[in-house]
Amino acid sequence: MGNSCVNIEFSKGLFYIWDKSFLFAMNYQNTLAFAQQQDKEDALSHVRNQFHIPKDKNGNEWHYFTGNSLGLQPKSTKKYIDQELEDWANLGVEGHFEAKNPWLHYHELLTDKMAKIVGAKPIEVVVMNTLTANLHLLMVSFYRPTKTKYKIVIESDAFPSDRYAVESQLKFHGFDPEEGIIEWKPNQGESLLNIDDLESIIKFEGDEIALLLIGGVNYYTGQFLDLKRIAAIGHSKECVVGIDLAHGAGNIQPNLHDSGVDFAAWCTYKYLNSGPGSLAGLFVHEKHAHNKNLPRFAGWWNHNKETRFNMRMPVDVMQGAEGWQLSNPPILSMAAIRASLDLFDEVGMDALREKSEKLTGYFEYLISQIDSDAIKIITPNNPKERGCQISIQVKNADKSLHQKLTENNMITDWREPDVIRCAPTPMYNSFEDVYQMVKTLSSILCEGKEV
Ligand SMILES: *Cc1c(COP(=O)(O)O)cnc(C)c1O
Repeated sequence: MGNSCVNIEFSKGLFYIWDKSFLFAMNYQNTLAFAQQQDKEDALSHVRNQFHIPKDKNGNEWHYFTGNSLGLQPKSTKKYIDQELEDWANLGVEGHFEAKNPWLHYHELLTDKMAKIVGAKPIEVVVMNTLTANLHLLMVSFYRPTKTKYKIVIESDAFPSDRYAVESQLKFHGFDPEEGIIEWKPNQGESLLNIDDLESIIKFEGDEIALLLIGGVNYYTGQFLDLKRIAAIGHSKECVVGIDLAHGAGNIQPNLHDSGVDFAAWCTYKYLNSGPGSLAGLFVHEKHAHNKNLPRFAGWWNHNKETRFNMRMPVDVMQGAEGWQLSNPPILSMAAIRASLDLFDEVGMDALREKSEKLTGYFEYLISQIDSDAIKIITPNNPKERGCQISIQVKNADKSLHQKLTENNMITDWREPDVIRCAPTPMYNSFEDVYQMVKTLSSILCEGKEV
């Protein structure tokens, strides 16, 4: 590796980004001064100061590119959690009704803002449990296999937890996962999924398929799929369509309601910056909101709020997504989610998305300036088909490359066999972060030669 590196200090260049509707040129430059100027002009640059940015032992800030794994902590989170600790200390059980934000209804404080982030109606969204648990609960209701229509389509490189969940659902219903799982694969020699291939799968095997469970943004390549088209393709053969939005929520704008997908779930500790293992989101499309006949598991929290505490009534399931709740939820975790959602609401997904496209565009441009055939971006280059993740494949690389990046304060994610995933998030990453990252990567690839 590395012998084809050239000096990348840094040419000026027009960089063309292909967009479906138009072609526009960003006048990106490969200099620190340019990156810093972009940060100055960035209307969201102040938002970075609202986050704790981890530092190395010499006090230098990390260049943090793993917001797709665990988002950084907003400085406001502590205040939100402290409020609940204080109310618990002072009020005990009375806090359910008397806390500043009564715990009984606390989850409702999250609903509107979460719904806005994923493009849903409030009745379609609830925050509860964790992601994989929610996927199972949703499959209890929406994966209703018959002897002949029981198969499940997933992406060939689906996140392992999703694959395990689907396998276990098949087994639970008495099917063999080997036969029951249909993989939607990229074509030979390619990294990205082609939606026409999904269309063929459904066309030829749709009568045997009960469910599509697809990552809306693929965790490995960062590919953002066309949810509306996936929904239409699935529904054309009466397959239920579910979306895992773990890598989408707070990143892209999935417009869940308009997409027409039946259900979705996502975690809040990635782009939604709500803390390790924090609660998850759940979406059930409005068309199912009033269907009380859907089979589902029950607990006291899917029971009608008005009569919940009478305790002796037969279960009276709530309408909408709230009707999938089981338990009274952990308020401390919800407080962290609330802090983050308030920040998202203040900044707005439109502004975040706009910055996101510029940041990843800059990242892509800088990578293109490294004249090495060892390195390739596997994320789509159309900004409409990706979020704020750039996955870089490095020929013959091993984990030592990732180690060297980390030693240089570049916090990235390594995926075997040869992919570095980097997420410049518009909330707290800067153009300078991106510049430093690519410069460091380039100098490592060139084996220490000055660049
Ligand atoms: C992060 C992630 C998960 C993790 O699931 P948890 O239940 O939150 O542990 C599952 N699926 C996908 C696609 C993910 O990106």
